[in-house]
Amino acid sequence: MSTQSFYDIKAAVVRGKGKPFALENARIRAPKEGEVLVKIVATGMCHTDMIVRDQYYPVPLPAVLGHEGAGVVTTIGPLVKELQVGDHVVLTYGYCSHCGHCGTGHAAYCDEFYPRNFSGADQHGDTAITDAEGQALHDHFFAQSSFATYALSLESNAVKVPVDAPLELLGPLGCGIQTGAGAVINSLQVIPGSSFASFGAGAVGLSAVLAARVAGATTIIAVDVVPSRLALAKELGATHVINSKEQDPVAVIREITAGGANYALESTGIPAVLRQGIDSLGPLGAIGVVGAPALGTEAKFDVNELLLGGKTIRGIVEGDSTPKQFIPQLVKLYQQGRFPFDKLVKFYPFEQINQAAADSEKGITLKPIVMIGEM
Ligand code: NAD
Repeated sequence: MSTQSFYDIKAAVVRGKGKPFALENARIRAPKEGEVLVKIVATGMCHTDMIVRDQYYPVPLPAVLGHEGAGVVTTIGPLVKELQVGDHVVLTYGYCSHCGHCGTGHAAYCDEFYPRNFSGADQHGDTAITDAEGQALHDHFFAQSSFATYALSLESNAVKVPVDAPLELLGPLGCGIQTGAGAVINSLQVIPGSSFASFGAGAVGLSAVLAARVAGATTIIAVDVVPSRLALAKELGATHVINSKEQDPVAVIREITAGGANYALESTGIPAVLRQGIDSLGPLGAIGVVGAPALGTEAKFDVNELLLGGKTIRGIVEGDSTPKQFIPQLVKLYQQGRFPFDKLVKFYPFEQINQAAADSEKGITLKPIVMIGEM
C-alpha cells in the first residue's frame, strides 16, 4: 500500500506538435484503487508515439507518451488483487474489463478504448502527473505513459512476466510485437502449410513474419522498400522477400503462391499498399489491416476483386490479444528460441530518446527500446 502521496519522477514531455521529447523533473501521484505504481526499467518506442507527438492522433499536449513499458511493481493501491510489490510486469493497452467486448475476450475493442488510451487522462478524466511548476501534464497514454521513471497502471493492463526473462527487452510485447504476432495467430489464424505476405517489414510486420513461422506457414513473403529490413526478414524466416520499389509485389506474390496468398497483413499505413495486399490474395484470402494512417484516411479497392474472390479485409487492434494470456505465451516462445524478437531491437539511454525516435523514423532502427531505470 502507498505511504506517500506523490513521487518525484523524470519524464519525457512533448510540449507541442512535432516538438522533441524533453526530459523534465515531474511528480506522479500515488496509486488509487486497482492501480499499481511501476518503476520503469525500459520502454519500447512505437510509430504510434511519433504520430501522437506529430498530432496525427489528437492526444492533448503537453503529454507524457510511451506505451511499451516494462518494469517492477513498487507500490500497490487498495483493492489490487493479483499483483504484488516486486512483480515484473509488461504494461499494455487499457480496457474497462466490463463492457460487452471485454466480457467476450475482445478487450482491444473495448467500448472505452479511445478514452482510456488516447484521451490524455484516466478513465475518470483525471491526470496524475504534474510538471516542475505544478502544472498538470496529460498522461495515461495507453493507460501508462511509460516514457518516465515511474508509471501508474491499472492492475488489468499490467501483465506479470517471469523474473527469469530479460525485463529490459519485454516492453514492446505490450504493443508493437503483440500486434504483429497477434494479427497472425489470433486474428488471421494462419494455419500450417499456408502462405502469408507481410506488407511492411517494420517492427509490426517482422513480428508477423516471426509468428507466421510459429504458426506453420510454409510460404512467408515480406514486402518492403528498405533492403536491410528485407534482409532481416529472410534471417527471421521469410521464404521470399520483395522490394516493391523494384518489383510489382502483386504479380510476384501471385506467381510465388500460384494464384495468390492465403493471408496478408498491411502494416505500412499506406492506402495504395492496402490495395496491393488485397490484390495479392488468392480466393478466400484474408488481409489484416494494422497500419495506422492519419484519422480520416480513405483507401480504394476493386469491389469485384474482393467479392468474386470471397476475400476478407479485417481491421485489427493490438493483434486481438488478451494480453494476460498472449504476452506470457510470447515470452515462453522467446525463451524457447522460437520467437527471437530481440533481433528487432536496439537499446538507447533515456537521454537519447530523440535519437531513438529519429533512428526509427529514418528506418535505421526497427524497434528502439529506451533504457529508463535500474531494476
Ligand atoms: P515501421 O515504420 O517500423 O514499419 C513500416 C514499414 O513499412 C517500414 O519498414 C517501411 O519501410 C515500410 N514501407 C513504407 N512504404 C512501403 C511500401 N510502399 N511498400 C512496402 N513497405 C513499405 O512501423 P511499425 O512499428 O512496424 O508499425 C507499423 C504500423 O502499425 C504503424 O502505422 C503503427 O502506428 C501501427 N500500429 C498499429 C497497431 C494496431 O493496434 N493496429 C499497433 C501498433 C502499431
